[in-house]
Amino acid sequence: MTEDKTKQAKKEVREAKKAAKKAKKEAVQTNCLECNKPLMKKSKYYRNGKYYCAKKCFKALIAKQEKEKAASRTSQEKEAEEKEAKK
Ligand SMILES: [Zn+2]
Repeated sequence: MTEDKTKQAKKEVREAKKAAKKAKKEAVQTNCLECNKPLMKKSKYYRNGKYYCAKKCFKALIAKQEKEKAASRTSQEKEAEEKEAKK
């Protein structure tokens, strides 16, 4: 029954290739990173390796990231900043 095993192995290879192809296809960004709208070919806005539906969305995402960065700072840093502001 070695023939069956070979067939099975070939089938597995084929399936793996198919899965890899599918994964590659899914990796392509099709929606806006900010508002998640499907990207139109004509109105895509490309920045920093990512696609957005408009410049507005790119800016919105940057603003959000800045806010998150600020929020994730330690309270120690914030205290120091407040002291600095009181001077
Ligand atoms: Zn958008």
